[in-house]
Amino acid sequence: MAFVSEKVKNLPPYLFSEFQRRKKELEADGVDVIDLGIGAPDLPTPDFVVDKLAEESRIAANHRYSTYSGSVEFREAVADFYQKQYGVSLDPDSEVLTVIGSKEGIANLMHATLNPGDAVLVPDPGYPVYRKAVHLAGGESIPLPLDAENNYVPLYDYVDDTTLKRAKLMLLNYPSNPTAATVNFDTFLEAITFSVKNNLLLVHDAAYDMVTYNGYKAPSVMQVDGAKEHAVEFGSLSKSFNMTGWRIGYVVGNKEVIKALATFKSNIDTCQFLPIQKAAAAALRSDFSAVAANNKIYQKRMETLYAAFQKLGMKADKPNGTIFLWAKVPDGYTSMSFADKLLNDCGVIVTPGNAFGSRGEGYIRIALTVTTDRLNEVISRMEKANFKEVAN
Ligand SMILES: *Cc1c(COP(=O)(O)O)cnc(C)c1O
Repeated sequence: MAFVSEKVKNLPPYLFSEFQRRKKELEADGVDVIDLGIGAPDLPTPDFVVDKLAEESRIAANHRYSTYSGSVEFREAVADFYQKQYGVSLDPDSEVLTVIGSKEGIANLMHATLNPGDAVLVPDPGYPVYRKAVHLAGGESIPLPLDAENNYVPLYDYVDDTTLKRAKLMLLNYPSNPTAATVNFDTFLEAITFSVKNNLLLVHDAAYDMVTYNGYKAPSVMQVDGAKEHAVEFGSLSKSFNMTGWRIGYVVGNKEVIKALATFKSNIDTCQFLPIQKAAAAALRSDFSAVAANNKIYQKRMETLYAAFQKLGMKADKPNGTIFLWAKVPDGYTSMSFADKLLNDCGVIVTPGNAFGSRGEGYIRIALTVTTDRLNEVISRMEKANFKEVAN
Protein backbone atom coordinates (compact mmCIF):
# COMPACT_ATOMS: atom_id res chain seq x y z
CA MET A 1 0.00 0.00 0.00
CA ALA A 2 3.05 2.27 0.00
CA PHE A 3 2.06 3.77 -3.31
CA VAL A 4 -1.59 4.37 -2.52
CA SER A 5 -2.88 7.78 -1.39
CA GLU A 6 -4.69 8.29 1.90
CA LYS A 7 -7.61 9.59 -0.13
CA VAL A 8 -8.03 6.28 -1.90
CA LYS A 9 -7.26 4.20 1.19
CA ASN A 10 -9.90 6.05 3.13
CA LEU A 11 -12.69 5.55 0.61
CA PRO A 12 -15.56 3.69 2.25
CA PRO A 13 -15.68 0.00 1.26
CA TYR A 14 -17.81 -1.01 -1.68
CA LEU A 15 -20.86 -2.64 -0.11
CA PHE A 16 -21.87 -4.70 -3.12
CA SER A 17 -18.67 -6.72 -3.50
CA GLU A 18 -19.74 -9.27 -0.86
CA PHE A 19 -23.01 -9.89 -2.70
CA GLN A 20 -21.16 -10.30 -5.98
CA ARG A 21 -18.81 -12.84 -4.34
CA ARG A 22 -21.81 -14.81 -3.00
CA LYS A 23 -23.46 -14.57 -6.41
CA LYS A 24 -20.47 -16.29 -8.06
CA GLU A 25 -20.44 -18.96 -5.34
CA LEU A 26 -24.16 -19.70 -5.74
CA GLU A 27 -23.89 -19.73 -9.52
CA ALA A 28 -21.02 -22.20 -9.27
CA ASP A 29 -23.40 -24.39 -7.24
CA GLY A 30 -25.90 -24.21 -10.10
CA VAL A 31 -28.25 -21.63 -8.56
CA ASP A 32 -30.00 -19.38 -11.11
CA VAL A 33 -29.28 -16.05 -9.43
CA ILE A 34 -31.47 -13.09 -10.44
CA ASP A 35 -29.60 -9.82 -9.98
CA LEU A 36 -31.84 -6.85 -9.17
CA GLY A 37 -28.92 -4.96 -7.66
CA ILE A 38 -27.59 -3.40 -10.82
CA GLY A 39 -28.91 0.11 -11.40
CA ALA A 40 -28.42 0.14 -15.16
CA PRO A 41 -30.95 -0.43 -17.94
CA ASP A 42 -30.96 -3.91 -19.50
CA LEU A 43 -32.60 -2.58 -22.69
CA PRO A 44 -30.60 -1.72 -25.83
CA THR A 45 -29.78 1.76 -27.12
CA PRO A 46 -32.36 2.78 -29.76
CA ASP A 47 -31.36 1.76 -33.32
CA PHE A 48 -31.37 5.29 -34.71
CA VAL A 49 -28.74 6.32 -32.16
CA VAL A 50 -26.53 3.30 -32.93
CA ASP A 51 -26.94 3.98 -36.67
CA LYS A 52 -25.88 7.60 -36.20
CA LEU A 53 -22.75 6.48 -34.31
CA ALA A 54 -21.89 3.99 -37.06
CA GLU A 55 -22.31 6.62 -39.76
CA GLU A 56 -20.36 9.36 -37.96
CA SER A 57 -17.56 7.04 -36.91
CA ARG A 58 -16.67 6.48 -40.60
CA ILE A 59 -15.97 10.19 -41.13
CA ALA A 60 -12.26 10.89 -40.64
CA ALA A 61 -12.79 14.43 -39.33
CA ASN A 62 -14.66 12.90 -36.39
CA HIS A 63 -11.61 10.93 -35.27
CA ARG A 64 -9.86 14.02 -33.94
CA TYR A 65 -10.06 15.57 -30.51
CA SER A 66 -13.34 17.18 -29.63
CA THR A 67 -13.16 20.72 -28.29
CA TYR A 68 -12.76 20.57 -24.51
CA SER A 69 -16.24 21.75 -23.70
CA GLY A 70 -17.89 19.44 -26.24
CA SER A 71 -19.06 19.95 -29.81
CA VAL A 72 -21.23 22.98 -30.48
CA GLU A 73 -23.73 20.61 -32.08
CA PHE A 74 -24.22 18.63 -28.85
CA ARG A 75 -24.40 21.72 -26.63
CA GLU A 76 -26.97 23.26 -28.96
CA ALA A 77 -28.98 20.03 -28.84
CA VAL A 78 -28.94 20.25 -25.02
CA ALA A 79 -30.07 23.89 -25.11
CA ASP A 80 -32.87 23.04 -27.55
CA PHE A 81 -33.87 20.10 -25.37
CA TYR A 82 -34.22 22.45 -22.37
CA GLN A 83 -36.35 24.82 -24.42
CA LYS A 84 -38.61 22.04 -25.66
CA GLN A 85 -38.86 19.99 -22.45
CA TYR A 86 -38.83 22.75 -19.83
CA GLY A 87 -39.34 26.06 -21.61
CA VAL A 88 -35.91 27.18 -20.36
CA SER A 89 -33.48 29.18 -22.52
CA LEU A 90 -29.80 28.35 -22.19
CA ASP A 91 -26.78 29.80 -23.95
CA PRO A 92 -25.06 26.73 -25.45
CA ASP A 93 -21.63 28.41 -25.18
CA SER A 94 -21.60 29.55 -21.58
CA GLU A 95 -24.42 27.67 -19.87
CA VAL A 96 -23.95 24.12 -21.22
CA LEU A 97 -20.98 21.77 -20.87
CA THR A 98 -20.57 18.24 -22.19
CA VAL A 99 -19.46 15.66 -19.61
CA ILE A 100 -18.29 12.07 -19.94
CA GLY A 101 -21.35 10.82 -18.08
CA SER A 102 -22.80 12.70 -15.13
CA LYS A 103 -20.76 10.63 -12.65
CA GLU A 104 -17.57 12.10 -14.11
CA GLY A 105 -19.09 15.57 -14.19
CA ILE A 106 -20.24 15.46 -10.58
CA ALA A 107 -16.90 14.12 -9.33
CA ASN A 108 -14.94 16.81 -11.17
CA LEU A 109 -17.39 19.53 -10.15
CA MET A 110 -16.38 18.90 -6.54
CA HIS A 111 -12.75 19.62 -7.44
CA ALA A 112 -13.71 22.72 -9.38
CA THR A 113 -15.77 24.22 -6.53
CA LEU A 114 -14.59 22.94 -3.14
CA ASN A 115 -11.75 24.12 -0.94
CA PRO A 116 -10.39 21.77 1.76
CA GLY A 117 -12.93 21.29 4.54
CA ASP A 118 -15.88 22.84 2.70
CA ALA A 119 -19.10 21.08 3.64
CA VAL A 120 -21.55 19.66 1.14
CA LEU A 121 -25.13 18.66 1.91
CA VAL A 122 -25.83 15.26 0.35
CA PRO A 123 -29.18 13.47 0.33
CA ASP A 124 -29.52 10.61 2.82
CA PRO A 125 -30.56 8.18 1.44
CA GLY A 126 -28.82 9.10 -1.80
CA TYR A 127 -26.56 8.00 -4.63
CA PRO A 128 -23.26 6.91 -2.98
CA VAL A 129 -21.14 8.59 -5.67
CA TYR A 130 -21.90 12.00 -4.11
CA ARG A 131 -20.26 11.22 -0.78
CA LYS A 132 -17.25 9.64 -2.43
CA ALA A 133 -16.80 12.50 -4.86
CA VAL A 134 -16.91 15.01 -1.99
CA HIS A 135 -14.37 12.92 -0.04
CA LEU A 136 -12.00 12.66 -3.03
CA ALA A 137 -12.12 16.44 -3.47
CA GLY A 138 -11.23 17.03 0.19
CA GLY A 139 -14.68 18.22 1.21
CA GLU A 140 -16.91 16.98 4.00
CA SER A 141 -20.32 15.41 3.35
CA ILE A 142 -23.17 16.38 5.62
CA PRO A 143 -26.24 14.14 5.38
CA LEU A 144 -29.37 15.99 4.30
CA PRO A 145 -32.16 13.80 5.68
CA LEU A 146 -35.03 12.62 3.51
CA ASP A 147 -37.82 10.37 4.74
CA ALA A 148 -40.87 8.49 3.55
CA GLU A 149 -43.32 10.49 5.72
CA ASN A 150 -42.32 13.66 3.86
CA ASN A 151 -42.14 12.04 0.42
CA TYR A 152 -38.36 12.29 0.47
CA VAL A 153 -38.18 16.06 0.11
CA PRO A 154 -35.16 17.63 1.90
CA LEU A 155 -35.66 18.11 5.66
CA TYR A 156 -33.71 21.36 5.91
CA ASP A 157 -34.51 21.84 9.60
CA TYR A 158 -32.32 18.88 10.49
CA VAL A 159 -29.16 20.70 9.38
CA ASP A 160 -27.83 22.85 12.20
CA ASP A 161 -26.80 26.48 11.62
CA THR A 162 -23.09 26.00 12.34
CA THR A 163 -22.86 23.25 9.76
CA LEU A 164 -24.89 25.27 7.33
CA LYS A 165 -22.40 28.15 7.59
CA ARG A 166 -19.60 25.85 6.40
CA ALA A 167 -21.69 24.42 3.57
CA LYS A 168 -20.95 25.48 0.02
CA LEU A 169 -22.94 23.01 -2.06
CA MET A 170 -26.18 21.07 -1.79
CA LEU A 171 -26.83 18.00 -3.92
CA LEU A 172 -30.32 16.85 -4.82
CA ASN A 173 -31.56 14.10 -7.14
CA TYR A 174 -35.15 13.78 -8.39
CA PRO A 175 -36.52 11.45 -9.70
CA SER A 176 -34.41 9.76 -7.08
CA ASN A 177 -32.03 6.88 -6.95
CA PRO A 178 -32.55 4.92 -4.68
CA THR A 179 -36.00 5.98 -3.38
CA ALA A 180 -37.71 6.52 -6.78
CA ALA A 181 -39.26 9.65 -5.22
CA THR A 182 -40.46 12.36 -7.58
CA VAL A 183 -41.22 15.97 -6.70
CA ASN A 184 -43.13 18.90 -8.13
CA PHE A 185 -41.87 22.35 -9.01
CA ASP A 186 -42.43 23.70 -5.48
CA THR A 187 -39.72 21.45 -4.08
CA PHE A 188 -37.23 23.06 -6.46
CA LEU A 189 -38.52 26.53 -5.70
CA GLU A 190 -37.96 25.83 -2.01
CA ALA A 191 -34.50 24.39 -2.73
CA ILE A 192 -33.46 27.51 -4.64
CA THR A 193 -34.87 29.77 -1.92
CA PHE A 194 -32.90 27.78 0.68
CA SER A 195 -29.75 27.98 -1.48
CA VAL A 196 -30.06 31.73 -1.94
CA LYS A 197 -30.65 32.26 1.79
CA ASN A 198 -27.66 30.15 2.78
CA ASN A 199 -25.40 31.07 -0.11
CA LEU A 200 -25.20 27.53 -1.48
CA LEU A 201 -24.72 26.22 -4.97
CA LEU A 202 -27.52 23.76 -5.67
CA VAL A 203 -26.32 20.82 -7.74
CA HIS A 204 -29.23 18.87 -9.13
CA ASP A 205 -28.64 15.42 -10.60
CA ALA A 206 -31.44 14.81 -13.11
CA ALA A 207 -30.25 11.40 -14.35
CA TYR A 208 -33.87 10.14 -14.47
CA ASP A 209 -35.50 13.33 -15.78
CA MET A 210 -37.19 11.50 -18.64
CA VAL A 211 -37.65 8.10 -17.00
CA THR A 212 -41.15 8.79 -15.74
CA TYR A 213 -44.62 7.25 -16.04
CA ASN A 214 -48.21 7.42 -14.73
CA GLY A 215 -48.51 10.75 -16.54
CA TYR A 216 -45.86 12.39 -14.35
CA LYS A 217 -43.46 14.86 -15.99
CA ALA A 218 -40.36 15.80 -14.00
CA PRO A 219 -39.67 19.52 -13.55
CA SER A 220 -36.21 21.08 -13.94
CA VAL A 221 -34.47 23.18 -11.30
CA MET A 222 -33.72 25.62 -14.14
CA GLN A 223 -37.42 26.47 -14.36
CA VAL A 224 -37.16 28.37 -11.08
CA ASP A 225 -36.64 32.14 -11.53
CA GLY A 226 -33.06 33.01 -10.72
CA ALA A 227 -31.92 29.36 -10.76
CA LYS A 228 -28.97 30.25 -12.97
CA GLU A 229 -27.54 32.34 -10.11
CA HIS A 230 -27.46 29.47 -7.67
CA ALA A 231 -27.73 26.13 -9.47
CA VAL A 232 -26.36 23.71 -11.98
CA GLU A 233 -28.20 20.65 -13.23
CA PHE A 234 -26.68 17.46 -14.58
CA GLY A 235 -28.38 15.37 -17.24
CA SER A 236 -27.45 12.07 -18.77
CA LEU A 237 -28.31 9.95 -21.77
CA SER A 238 -27.51 6.82 -19.75
CA LYS A 239 -30.92 5.98 -18.36
CA SER A 240 -33.34 7.69 -20.75
CA PHE A 241 -31.73 6.27 -23.92
CA ASN A 242 -30.09 3.15 -22.44
CA MET A 243 -26.64 4.56 -23.11
CA THR A 244 -24.77 3.78 -19.88
CA GLY A 245 -21.69 2.47 -21.68
CA TRP A 246 -21.47 5.41 -24.06
CA ARG A 247 -20.47 7.88 -21.33
CA ILE A 248 -22.25 11.04 -22.36
CA GLY A 249 -24.08 13.67 -20.35
CA TYR A 250 -24.18 17.41 -19.75
CA VAL A 251 -24.34 20.06 -17.09
CA VAL A 252 -26.26 23.30 -17.46
CA GLY A 253 -26.79 26.45 -15.42
CA ASN A 254 -24.54 28.88 -13.59
CA LYS A 255 -21.93 30.29 -15.99
CA GLU A 256 -19.19 30.80 -13.46
CA VAL A 257 -19.46 27.20 -12.23
CA ILE A 258 -19.67 25.81 -15.78
CA LYS A 259 -16.55 27.75 -16.66
CA ALA A 260 -14.68 26.54 -13.57
CA LEU A 261 -15.61 22.93 -14.34
CA ALA A 262 -14.59 23.37 -17.98
CA THR A 263 -11.22 24.77 -16.91
CA PHE A 264 -10.64 21.96 -14.43
CA LYS A 265 -11.65 19.28 -16.91
CA SER A 266 -9.55 20.75 -19.73
CA ASN A 267 -6.53 19.66 -17.70
CA ILE A 268 -7.83 16.12 -17.27
CA ASP A 269 -9.77 14.95 -20.31
CA THR A 270 -10.51 16.08 -23.84
CA CYS A 271 -14.21 15.40 -23.80
CA GLN A 272 -15.98 12.52 -25.52
CA PHE A 273 -15.53 10.88 -28.96
CA LEU A 274 -17.25 13.17 -31.51
CA PRO A 275 -19.46 10.45 -33.07
CA ILE A 276 -20.83 9.71 -29.59
CA GLN A 277 -21.63 13.39 -29.09
CA LYS A 278 -23.33 13.48 -32.50
CA ALA A 279 -25.35 10.34 -31.79
CA ALA A 280 -26.35 11.78 -28.40
CA ALA A 281 -27.40 15.04 -30.09
CA ALA A 282 -29.63 13.00 -32.41
CA ALA A 283 -31.16 11.30 -29.38
CA LEU A 284 -31.92 14.65 -27.69
CA ARG A 285 -33.41 15.99 -30.92
CA SER A 286 -35.62 12.93 -31.46
CA ASP A 287 -39.34 12.70 -30.75
CA PHE A 288 -38.67 10.65 -27.56
CA SER A 289 -40.84 7.77 -28.75
CA ALA A 290 -37.95 5.46 -27.83
CA VAL A 291 -37.96 6.91 -24.31
CA ALA A 292 -41.73 6.51 -24.04
CA ALA A 293 -41.42 2.86 -25.13
CA ASN A 294 -38.78 2.21 -22.43
CA ASN A 295 -40.88 3.91 -19.81
CA LYS A 296 -43.82 1.69 -20.65
CA ILE A 297 -41.62 -1.35 -20.05
CA TYR A 298 -40.39 -0.05 -16.68
CA GLN A 299 -43.92 0.86 -15.67
CA LYS A 300 -45.17 -2.65 -16.46
CA ARG A 301 -42.33 -4.21 -14.46
CA MET A 302 -42.97 -1.83 -11.59
CA GLU A 303 -46.73 -2.60 -11.59
CA THR A 304 -46.01 -6.34 -11.63
CA LEU A 305 -43.66 -6.20 -8.69
CA TYR A 306 -45.66 -3.62 -6.77
CA ALA A 307 -48.85 -5.73 -6.99
CA ALA A 308 -46.97 -8.82 -5.82
CA PHE A 309 -45.39 -6.93 -2.92
CA GLN A 310 -48.82 -5.80 -1.76
CA LYS A 311 -49.94 -9.42 -1.68
CA LEU A 312 -46.79 -10.39 0.21
CA GLY A 313 -47.45 -7.63 2.73
CA MET A 314 -44.29 -5.74 1.74
CA LYS A 315 -44.66 -1.97 1.92
CA ALA A 316 -43.48 0.20 -0.95
CA ASP A 317 -44.44 3.59 -2.37
CA LYS A 318 -45.68 3.28 -5.92
CA PRO A 319 -43.21 5.29 -8.00
CA ASN A 320 -43.85 7.68 -10.90
CA GLY A 321 -40.38 7.26 -12.33
CA THR A 322 -36.88 5.75 -12.27
CA ILE A 323 -35.94 2.11 -12.74
CA PHE A 324 -36.29 1.26 -9.05
CA LEU A 325 -38.75 0.09 -6.46
CA TRP A 326 -37.84 1.12 -2.89
CA ALA A 327 -39.44 -1.20 -0.38
CA LYS A 328 -39.54 -1.52 3.38
CA VAL A 329 -38.11 -4.75 4.75
CA PRO A 330 -40.51 -6.95 6.77
CA ASP A 331 -40.58 -6.52 10.55
CA GLY A 332 -37.64 -8.03 12.35
CA TYR A 333 -35.16 -7.56 9.53
CA THR A 334 -32.46 -5.03 8.79
CA SER A 335 -31.69 -3.98 5.23
CA MET A 336 -28.69 -6.29 5.29
CA SER A 337 -30.34 -9.32 6.91
CA PHE A 338 -33.25 -9.14 4.45
CA ALA A 339 -30.97 -8.73 1.43
CA ASP A 340 -29.00 -11.75 2.73
CA LYS A 341 -32.18 -13.76 3.15
CA LEU A 342 -33.34 -12.91 -0.38
CA LEU A 343 -30.02 -14.07 -1.76
CA ASN A 344 -29.77 -17.25 0.32
CA ASP A 345 -33.42 -18.37 0.17
CA CYS A 346 -34.51 -16.98 -3.20
CA GLY A 347 -31.30 -16.49 -5.18
CA VAL A 348 -32.24 -12.84 -5.65
CA ILE A 349 -29.83 -9.94 -5.29
CA VAL A 350 -31.17 -6.56 -4.16
CA THR A 351 -29.32 -3.57 -2.73
CA PRO A 352 -29.63 -3.02 1.05
CA GLY A 353 -30.94 0.48 1.72
CA ASN A 354 -28.16 1.36 4.16
CA ALA A 355 -25.74 1.34 1.19
CA PHE A 356 -27.30 4.74 0.39
CA GLY A 357 -26.81 6.28 3.83
CA SER A 358 -28.00 5.62 7.37
CA ARG A 359 -31.54 6.77 6.57
CA GLY A 360 -31.80 4.02 4.00
CA GLU A 361 -31.75 1.46 6.82
CA GLY A 362 -34.91 -0.62 6.87
CA TYR A 363 -35.30 -0.55 3.08
CA ILE A 364 -34.10 -2.40 0.01
CA ARG A 365 -33.71 -1.06 -3.52
CA ILE A 366 -34.89 -3.30 -6.31
CA ALA A 367 -33.74 -2.47 -9.84
CA LEU A 368 -36.40 -3.13 -12.47
CA THR A 369 -33.73 -4.19 -14.92
CA VAL A 370 -34.86 -7.71 -15.82
CA THR A 371 -37.82 -8.87 -17.93
CA THR A 372 -41.33 -9.23 -16.50
CA ASP A 373 -40.89 -13.01 -16.85
CA ARG A 374 -37.85 -12.91 -14.61
CA LEU A 375 -39.68 -10.65 -12.15
CA ASN A 376 -42.48 -13.21 -12.05
CA GLU A 377 -39.84 -15.82 -11.19
CA VAL A 378 -38.61 -13.54 -8.38
CA ILE A 379 -42.18 -13.23 -7.13
CA SER A 380 -42.82 -16.97 -7.16
CA ARG A 381 -39.59 -17.57 -5.23
CA MET A 382 -40.54 -14.91 -2.69
CA GLU A 383 -44.01 -16.42 -2.26
CA LYS A 384 -42.39 -19.73 -1.33
CA ALA A 385 -39.97 -18.20 1.15
CA ASN A 386 -41.12 -17.53 4.70
CA PHE A 387 -40.20 -13.99 5.66
CA LYS A 388 -41.98 -14.14 9.00
CA GLU A 389 -39.41 -16.52 10.34
CA VAL A 390 -36.62 -14.13 11.21
CA ALA A 391 -33.15 -15.56 10.97
CA ASN A 392 -30.33 -14.07 12.99
C1 LIG B 1 -26.94 6.15 -13.06
C2 LIG B 1 -26.84 7.42 -12.31
C3 LIG B 1 -25.92 8.40 -12.67
C4 LIG B 1 -24.82 8.10 -13.63
O1 LIG B 1 -25.05 8.53 -14.84
P1 LIG B 1 -23.89 8.56 -15.92
O2 LIG B 1 -24.30 9.68 -16.77
O3 LIG B 1 -23.93 7.23 -16.60
O4 LIG B 1 -22.57 8.78 -15.26
C5 LIG B 1 -25.93 9.62 -12.00
N1 LIG B 1 -26.78 9.83 -11.00
C6 LIG B 1 -27.66 8.90 -10.60
C7 LIG B 1 -28.55 9.19 -9.47
C8 LIG B 1 -27.71 7.66 -11.23
O5 LIG B 1 -28.55 6.72 -10.80
